[in-house]
Amino acid sequence: MTGKAQQTYEHDLFPDDGVGLRCAKCDLSWKAAPRSRCAGVPSFRSWDAVPKHLRTRAQLDDLGVKPGGPVRGAVTMYNNTVFYALFDANEALPIRSAKAASKRAAVAAGASEGSKLS
Ligand SMILES: [Zn+2]
Repeated sequence: MTGKAQQTYEHDLFPDDGVGLRCAKCDLSWKAAPRSRCAGVPSFRSWDAVPKHLRTRAQLDDLGVKPGGPVRGAVTMYNNTVFYALFDANEALPIRSAKAASKRAAVAAGASEGSKLS
């Protein structure tokens, strides 16, 4: 080691049979050692892969709520050079009371809609 400080965005890689390498922190996998940064939370390479209950701050805002907990996941774009933070909609807090309540119900409905994997 050269004493270079770079611990923050480093993947915690371990060998994963049949895939290659997997990161214990972001759960992404590669066939060869990645040069990308690690989000440090469960990460998704496409919006389609994101569970329904995980939303970006902007998506929560559209629903009249705001993040009520820590970052729970990330969507990674452009080889992990861009991250979109995801928050758990179930932890979200209302921005405005009455209007937000019905929209929170919509979030819950979306979360229980089930997977569309075929
Ligand atoms: Zn990682």
